[in-house]
Amino acid sequence: MDKKKLVIIGSGPAGYTAGIYASRANLEPVLFEGINSGTPGGQLMTTTDVENYPGFPDGVQGPEMMQMFKKQAAKFGTTILTEDVERVDFSKKPFEVFGSKNQFQADTVIIATGAYAKRLDIEGTRDGELWQKGVSACAVCDGAMPMFRDKPLFVIGGGDSAMEEALFLTKFGSKVYIVHRRDQLRASKIMAKRAQENPKIEILYNKVVVKASGSNVLESVVIEDTGSKQQETKEAAGLFFAIGHQPATAFLNGQLELNEQGYIKVQPGSTKTNVEGVFAAGDVFDYVYRQAITAAGTGCMAALDAEHYLAGLGAGV
Ligand code: NAP
Repeated sequence: MDKKKLVIIGSGPAGYTAGIYASRANLEPVLFEGINSGTPGGQLMTTTDVENYPGFPDGVQGPEMMQMFKKQAAKFGTTILTEDVERVDFSKKPFEVFGSKNQFQADTVIIATGAYAKRLDIEGTRDGELWQKGVSACAVCDGAMPMFRDKPLFVIGGGDSAMEEALFLTKFGSKVYIVHRRDQLRASKIMAKRAQENPKIEILYNKVVVKASGSNVLESVVIEDTGSKQQETKEAAGLFFAIGHQPATAFLNGQLELNEQGYIKVQPGSTKTNVEGVFAAGDVFDYVYRQAITAAGTGCMAALDAEHYLAGLGAGV
């Protein structure tokens, strides 16, 4: 089995940035960008305009941006493999990483597999229907688009994410409806209070969205009462899923310490996991900020942490 100083698993802004820093530090990293387990390039591959990444005053398309990140990582010598990592063995050193085609021993590993915004399988919201045509799973990414200005917007969920997304969307929409399946919010008291007290927000309790319609872009949603099953059609320009994220950590098979939601636990202020020599970057541990710029930042941190660790080991740099 070929031995590497660093293997990076995952390919969003976190993974590619780790690749850029590590390859410039002569760590000759191998990066698994994944293929079936998620989209190579991560969540930005399913976004359109990215307008909040500094350095792009005219915005940039998410997939185009990830191509540039990838090119930059490759330029400095990151070997990029388009395959999934199926399992890892962190019980011995060097660690072992098993891809679907290639296997490596590694002195250090950076996990940057990200998280997926959960979606509901509602008629009209699927890929090829109105997904990304008014239907989104990220208000912060998409909310400022002109199509949502001064129009009624809908957020599904009752947790902190739903409150936060709804509050954010009040800057753009004429009115923001939170559609929650129960009669009580899951959100923290403070976030719930902010949403409840915002005059632009109306919370629809015991309701679910059962259909989204529109010829080219979203125009209306059908809301159903969970008790009476009565349905009502409402005008809608935006429908945002805010029902939580799922971190991509299943392949770790319990070998790293995770929190209750499955996110990797890191030591505060660093990217160190509970296994020395294994680092985490991006949304796979960060469930608070979840932005391309913060993911890229922690990707840089993870590469520097790996470099310092290797320097201590005498295994390179
Ligand atoms: P969450 O707390 O798990 O809430 C998910 C919400 O989506 C719940 O209200 C849930 O309804 C609803 N939901 C789940 N599946 C659904 C389905 N199939 N149909 C309809 N509704 C469904 O997730 P989150 O809001 O993303 O928060 C995750 C973590 O991040 C939390 O610890 C949260 O406090 C934290 N967070 C903090 C902040 C902040 O402090 N600023 C912001 C965002 C997130 P039920 O309530 O009925 O289960």
